[in-house]
Amino acid sequence: MIRFFILFLLATSLFSSTVERHRWSNGETYLQFLERQKLPLRKLYYNLDKDDQRLTEEMRSGVHYQILRDNAGNIEQMLLPLNDELQIHIYKDKKSYKFEAIPIISETKTEAFSSKIISSPMYTILKETGSKKLAQIFVASFKHSLNFKNDIRQGDPLVMIYEQKYRLGRPFSMPTLKVAMIEMRHKRHYIYLNDDDRYYDEKAHEVEGFLLARPVRGARISSYFTKRRWHPILHKWKAHLGVDYAARRGTPVIAAGSGRIIYAARLGTYGNLIKIRHNDGYETRYAHLKSFRRGIHRGKYVKKGQTIAYVGTTGRSTGPHLHFELRKRGRAINPLRVVQVTTKKLRGKEKKAFLRLKKNYDESVELHLNNQTSFKKLPPFENMSYIHLMEKNNG
Ligand SMILES: [Zn+2]
Repeated sequence: MIRFFILFLLATSLFSSTVERHRWSNGETYLQFLERQKLPLRKLYYNLDKDDQRLTEEMRSGVHYQILRDNAGNIEQMLLPLNDELQIHIYKDKKSYKFEAIPIISETKTEAFSSKIISSPMYTILKETGSKKLAQIFVASFKHSLNFKNDIRQGDPLVMIYEQKYRLGRPFSMPTLKVAMIEMRHKRHYIYLNDDDRYYDEKAHEVEGFLLARPVRGARISSYFTKRRWHPILHKWKAHLGVDYAARRGTPVIAAGSGRIIYAARLGTYGNLIKIRHNDGYETRYAHLKSFRRGIHRGKYVKKGQTIAYVGTTGRSTGPHLHFELRKRGRAINPLRVVQVTTKKLRGKEKKAFLRLKKNYDESVELHLNNQTSFKKLPPFENMSYIHLMEKNNG
């Protein structure tokens, strides 16, 4: 049986039933949440397979989730986003609750604003948009190239073009920066997102980000990062929140970046696991290890490139490989997006393509500057309501 589940957002509707929107409380686990909602722990957790149980560990504080109740106030459905593509759907089916992981239906919009510096770029963008995320992204993008402290003047213009995902009519997840521009001392500075998913400046030089080495030298990638993937045999949605490197048992595993080891022990399906905390809220995880290198333990500071452990197949693993994860403030992100050994200069065909893209972006920036595009604010949430449709299909 295939189920189709759709939530529609309408401004007004006669058929609407109100959906409650909540924020996941700080530090609450999925199990605690079920208990608090008086939902059956066995059905919705203990009876799940290990992969689904692991998924429930991805619930993060601050995430918005929805509860749909019937007229008597009983929970009919719940949607708990795990990342920006996959969500837990808990629903009542013939009086008993069911669990499934389903894709998030979202819409991506390109948005932009231009503003004039009041004091710092951080403050200016916060004031313009009310979004801490946008302010942080803008400041972080120029972190390695500009010094805002000394060179910024009141009235200097800035422009930001970015993509924002919307779920049920509300922005969610981190915006993706497309272009950032700031003028300082009459000189404009740009950062562009290229088609290769990396950021470049106006000279087609890659912008230095979080520098990471590959955790296993020369190893083949056997499984890529994905926030959601349809498993054709198990017939369900799964996520692989890391990158797998196939390598022989005993191959050295190196620290992808410098930082402090905050975990070095066995942990459930991860097997032998090392977690390293880096600057700026980054954390790397190395799983299924055969063993740790002598002297590697919690609290130890390690340097990028230093051997910390050896490839193995401990925990839930089908063969020797390293499962490598990168997290930023707890959220899993694709390590391959940030792994850089050296920064890149575009040349030849790649550079030509980039310059074409850049030209389009520059024209947009110019337009937003001239129009003084202001940040578009959303109507308050109370004005919105939902209808939901559920359709069952035998097949
Ligand atoms: Zn893996």
